[in-house]
Amino acid sequence: MFQPSLTADCGRCAALCCAHHAFDSSDQFAIDKPAGVPCPNLTGCGRCKIHESLAEHGFPGCENYDCLGAGQHVVQGLFGGRSWLSEPALKEPMFEAFRMMRGVHEALLLLQTARGLALSEEEAARCTELERTLVPENGWTLAGLIEFESGPAVGEVHAFLRGLQYKAQNWAKSA
Ligand code: SF4
Ligand code: SF4
Repeated sequence: MFQPSLTADCGRCAALCCAHHAFDSSDQFAIDKPAGVPCPNLTGCGRCKIHESLAEHGFPGCENYDCLGAGQHVVQGLFGGRSWLSEPALKEPMFEAFRMMRGVHEALLLLQTARGLALSEEEAARCTELERTLVPENGWTLAGLIEFESGPAVGEVHAFLRGLQYKAQNWAKSA
């Protein structure tokens, strides 16, 4: 089964997080920024002007942020390496795909972490089954993500993880 990387690869992305997310002026971000609006520190070619000194400029939240690999998955897997920066018409579908893909990658990470809990054979099989719903054989499409979001898969992942809570608690006690 193809496993998408759960590690951000910003060089293969298109600065999706720097425009899609909103942030509030706080100890994490120096300014207020609405969702869907490019950060003023983002250059037209998708680079951060203060990348080397984010914390010093009041943006430690950017250093702490992790898209879990959803950014490059959307840009490369769904949009063939194209970018909303050079094709503004892609902005809306790319941002929407990114929002949904972030949820998919988060669920994959949770399932990957759950595998560290000495699962029973039945639980491991269920884990694999759920992972398959998060990694479609022919890759994700925008339509597939929309359908996925309105379906039961995310709820099923959370229900499965809730069922493992007793293992996590025992593991924490013995660690
Ligand atoms: S969305 Fe992810 S991969 Fe893209 S720039 Fe942001 S952190 Fe990097
Ligand atoms: S400060 Fe830089 S890394 Fe943070 S959102 Fe703005 S452009 Fe992106």
